[in-house]
Amino acid sequence: MSNCAIVGINWGDEGKGRMVDLLTESYDVVVRYQGGGNAGHTVINSQGKFALHLLPSGIFRKGVVNILGNGVALDSESLWSEMQDVMQKGVKLSPENLKISERASLLMPWHRELDSLEEARLKDKKYGSTKQGIAPFYSDKYQKKTVLAGELFYPRQFRTHLADLLEWKNLTLTNVYGARPYTIEMLEQWIHEYCDKIKPYICNTGDFLKQATLEGKNILFEAQLGSLRDLDYGIYPYTTSSNTTAAYAPIGSGLPSAKIDDVIGVIKAYSTCVGEGPFVCEMFGKEANRLRQEGDEYGAKTGRPRRVGPLDIVATRYGVNVQAASEIALTKLDVLGYMDKIPVCTHYILDNQVTDEFPFPSALDLAKPVIEYFEGWKCDISGARRWEDLPEPARNYVDFIEKQIGCPITYVSVGPERDSIIIRK
Ligand code: GDP
Repeated sequence: MSNCAIVGINWGDEGKGRMVDLLTESYDVVVRYQGGGNAGHTVINSQGKFALHLLPSGIFRKGVVNILGNGVALDSESLWSEMQDVMQKGVKLSPENLKISERASLLMPWHRELDSLEEARLKDKKYGSTKQGIAPFYSDKYQKKTVLAGELFYPRQFRTHLADLLEWKNLTLTNVYGARPYTIEMLEQWIHEYCDKIKPYICNTGDFLKQATLEGKNILFEAQLGSLRDLDYGIYPYTTSSNTTAAYAPIGSGLPSAKIDDVIGVIKAYSTCVGEGPFVCEMFGKEANRLRQEGDEYGAKTGRPRRVGPLDIVATRYGVNVQAASEIALTKLDVLGYMDKIPVCTHYILDNQVTDEFPFPSALDLAKPVIEYFEGWKCDISGARRWEDLPEPARNYVDFIEKQIGCPITYVSVGPERDSIIIRK
């Protein structure tokens, strides 16, 4: 039996979905343990191209059980639409291969609206939210002002609970934002249209995971976003509202006793960042546009152009430590094939001093990147399947990153397809 977490080291969009899709071959269970439908994992395999938001990326493998743990923001509306989408493309979903924790809290219809209302109120000081309701959802969860998915099995208590929440939430909607109040009829429609659809998949996933552990099954924990978006360790307040770190996997999955044997941190061969907030190594102009195009860096959920930059060693080393990564998957190395020389942010300058420490969030705006250049390889490496197939400059680049971050790079991804990978172990 082995437990493994696949996590993002940077700002998200590192290619975690593609790694989970590849590695599920060796796992029996895949669990999403935090976040919601606010980010996207793109998976390309023989069944097609999929942009997953809430569904675990193991959903394409026969025999793999996929779990949405108690730590996720359970958006029944977006989950149901995603389920319909993958089913239409031929993926089989049933309560056998998809299980939703009865302890997952439901993202309420007003959470998405509150997200938009607050971003509008903030105007040019907005956080760059994807407006999926994630921040209002998690604040309400910690205020104990939302409902657990399992409450759907107790209709009488559920209706009373909803009426209480409705009364409370309408105070905020109307008095603070001047928005229209919700009605019980609107909630009934939401239950009917979405919650009832996902109800057959809701169960005690904690018991299932405990049993799977006893039976020696291999469990893969799949994270969303990356270290720098972690609520406690990221670039607060430009973080997400949950913990994206591997350390949260036991809590958010429903298996608090889980020991994670292996943490695979995913790093992109260059940097991207969606939304607002400090991004020390950001590139602009023509250079940035070219990288964005070559890497197809547009958000899977929103289509927003991603901010881009060279690989940031300072932020990446910090991210590796936060995740306690035991090995690294480096993705999108093929994208850099067009560059004559490859820029890397090797240090920061802060207060006129060169530093390798990732600064406190408030100081990030003051930090300047130190950029060094590596020889480019100027060719298409997407056909490489062995380390020896890579041109020497590409191997030097990977070796340099490995040395700088102090963690072995065991996977080098050279394309989005499942088999476009070099395994170094
Ligand atoms: P995630 O949220 O971490 O799973 O990442 P995303 O799915 O948002 O972004 C990764 C994108 O890069 C997806 O479109 C993948 O298909 C694509 N991708 C992943 N690995 C590679 C790679 O090695 N090369 C190329 N060219 N694309 C890749």
